[in-house]
Amino acid sequence: MKLDLARKPTPLEKVRIRGKEVFVKRDDLTEFVASGNKIRKLEYLLGEAVQMGADTVITCGAFQSNHARATAYLSIKLGKKPVLFLKEWHPGKKSGNFMLDTVMGAEIHTVTPEEYERIDEIMQEMAKKLEKEGRKAYVIPEGGSNTTGAKGYVDMVFELSRQIDLSEIDAIYVATSSAGTHAGILAGLKLLGYKNVEVRGVVVHKKPKELVADRIKNMLQELGVDTDGIILVGGFEGPDYAIPSKEDVGMIKEAGRTGIILDPVYTAKAFRGMVETMGEKERVIFVHTGGTFGLFAQANILEE
Ligand SMILES: *Cc1c(COP(=O)(O)O)cnc(C)c1O
Repeated sequence: MKLDLARKPTPLEKVRIRGKEVFVKRDDLTEFVASGNKIRKLEYLLGEAVQMGADTVITCGAFQSNHARATAYLSIKLGKKPVLFLKEWHPGKKSGNFMLDTVMGAEIHTVTPEEYERIDEIMQEMAKKLEKEGRKAYVIPEGGSNTTGAKGYVDMVFELSRQIDLSEIDAIYVATSSAGTHAGILAGLKLLGYKNVEVRGVVVHKKPKELVADRIKNMLQELGVDTDGIILVGGFEGPDYAIPSKEDVGMIKEAGRTGIILDPVYTAKAFRGMVETMGEKERVIFVHTGGTFGLFAQANILEE
């Protein structure tokens, strides 16, 4: 079951950057507190939670997780209690996404990076514990990235195909992390038959590319499409996940002057990846996946 939670369709805008024209799919405008890409996945995931009669939603993420913030908000709106497991790491402590998590009164458990390696187990243990107390919990994996969540981005491609003639587009750029967004977009294009559009996922962390590609492959298979054409763009990870390079900070300022506000964890790296790798004559779409609250948590990076 799919819920109708996001403000759709999001706008498709034309932006000029470094003399090139690109289209920007404004998924930073899918909502306010639940803004960004995660809400599209959550329309399907929380649909399952409602269907199974869950009273609690458990999920996880980085300390400043956009996914955790969006999940907490939408769970509350649906009358369910959010339980968040956040990887300990405190940039700007009570700011950005984490501040919103606390304002909304989400139950927050911080876990060490070591514990986080078995986070799926930890979340299942919590679900079992709650079950013994007579409650019913629905568990969402990191980033909402499983086949159910990825369907939200299959639908985004259908939406996009009604806004622009995709047969005239060469590539779609997107920030790729837990990869459900990437998988959904690629599956959507395959289902509609647009073989001309490459999906170029700019990887924003240092995990092995093969691991990311495998995740995408699994989701494509479960979505019933072939697994050809997985393109991961490397070289724009920066110093580490959630840590922007000097060039990324420069990109935030440059894009800001065109009216596009990028975030330091995902979209600044992906947008720079696009600007620096797109062909001179290519027609490309950048999927702005949001993350704006993360910029407030790292305001210090702009101070020089
Ligand atoms: C989670 C997130 C992404 C990455 O999406 P995945 O589906 O995890 O690859 C990109 N941008 C923003 C702002 C995000 O919060």
